[in-house]
Amino acid sequence: MSTQKVVGLPRRTVASVSPLSGELLREFEQHSDDAVESKIALAATAFREYRKIPFAQRAAWMLRAAEILESEKDMFGRLMTQEMGKTLKSAVQEAEKSAFGCRYYAENAERFLADEEAKTNAARSFIRYQPIGPVLAVMPWNFPFWQVFRFAAPALMAGNVGLLKHASNVPQCALAIEDIFSPRRAGFPEGAFQTLLIGPDRVNHVIADRRIAAVTLTGSVGAGISVATQAGKELKKSVLELGGSDPFIVMPSADLDRAAETAVQARVINNGQSCIAAKRFIVHQRIAEQFEKKFVARMASLKVGDPMDPNTDVGPLATADVLQGLEKQVQETIKMGARVLLGGKRLDRKGNFFAPTVLADIPKGSPAFDDELFGPVASLYRAADMAEAIKIANNSIFGLGACAWTNDPAERELFINEIESGLAFINGMVASDPRIPFGGVKHSGYGRELSHHGIREFVNVKSVCIQEPEPAKGGTE
Ligand code: NAP
Repeated sequence: MSTQKVVGLPRRTVASVSPLSGELLREFEQHSDDAVESKIALAATAFREYRKIPFAQRAAWMLRAAEILESEKDMFGRLMTQEMGKTLKSAVQEAEKSAFGCRYYAENAERFLADEEAKTNAARSFIRYQPIGPVLAVMPWNFPFWQVFRFAAPALMAGNVGLLKHASNVPQCALAIEDIFSPRRAGFPEGAFQTLLIGPDRVNHVIADRRIAAVTLTGSVGAGISVATQAGKELKKSVLELGGSDPFIVMPSADLDRAAETAVQARVINNGQSCIAAKRFIVHQRIAEQFEKKFVARMASLKVGDPMDPNTDVGPLATADVLQGLEKQVQETIKMGARVLLGGKRLDRKGNFFAPTVLADIPKGSPAFDDELFGPVASLYRAADMAEAIKIANNSIFGLGACAWTNDPAERELFINEIESGLAFINGMVASDPRIPFGGVKHSGYGRELSHHGIREFVNVKSVCIQEPEPAKGGTE
């Protein structure tokens, strides 16, 4: 490891603070430089043996991790809700989805990474996919389990080992995940998956370490630029899953009630803090008024409150900073001329609560127009036809997910071909699924997670050519 120390930067504590009450739940000291060094050394040593372990054994451990997630989903769910405020029912579903991801890769990794025969002039040619080493994963708090498992399940099944730098506000989730993969629980060898309790200022130092093979980051554009810059300097592979401002397009042929109902779910999923939440609603002008009425009525009927309560639809935002940032974006957008159809401000109560909000007449250059709004705030736009709706949708630095509601085959084709996004859904809400690749274009990042594409991001694609020896020529000696 390089001996360079990070100096002059504050070393933040890593802490769980209740989004509901503001109370400090638990505080952890960051791992010291020596502790980080030991963990990287352990990862590098573990990799040398782990890479040779057969798929069947790795799959058995991964299936055990899935069983732990399933059997303890209520406990893991409570942990997520306490640390970052998502509703308990969605947190329990997240533990289940993480288990599904583990099973998916336990069952399919060997097939995804099997040797592939190729035809060349050699007697035999094939491609072999091999693990590359310790991979650093820098992860966000918004899906504190799923984001990590969708990295860890393919990485570990491919024969890599993982080091997790989780968001500083979800340390208990980070440690719980480390425990799930431990020799004591799922049975993975010591060092196969470890958590680093460090702040963002120490990430570059880890990337620079010669034993780290690659890095993946899920988070904001700013963090992505920082990590990609450092990875570039070190000539290391990186995958970035960044922000989004997903469009939700509705055309006259759609089932308007279903579209309006799904639009609300798509906006407030995870209390509005999802990269693939629908954020911009672009509706054909002929049905715009009708859609707006239905949408606003449904947004107004959402129950905001304690995320542990099974009747709650929208809980508090994850941190006081997220609340403050969203409030500033909404206030500025309103100041620039947007019309408030619902909400528009934080709620006058304890906790990081923002009112479900609907804005219309969004001014060009305003935060709602240009940036990602991470909370229960919807922006409404009107378009003359599908072509104009796509033009509005593409007028963004982001390109993660997008959905269109239409039963017109020509409009569907136009949308699929012209929308600048990594995911394009018709008549449904954008969601991640281990069976299809996930990722974006433009400032939403590069590379893919999930499916066979995801597991092949962090492997050495080795081309093998075998020439048979010339047959011995008799009698020439
Ligand atoms: P964030 O501030 O970028 O944090 C994400 C992770 O990066 C955290 O672990 C954070 O550490 C770390 N980090 C922050 N700045 C860094 C830097 N300069 N260098 C290295 N690491 C750094 O993002 P967030 O606010 O937690 O998450 C919300 C963002 O993530 C949104 O933009 C959302 O759309 C995006 N997101 C994208 C996807 C996707 O798959 N495309 C999925 C979920 C979320 P600390 O917590 O210690 O600061």
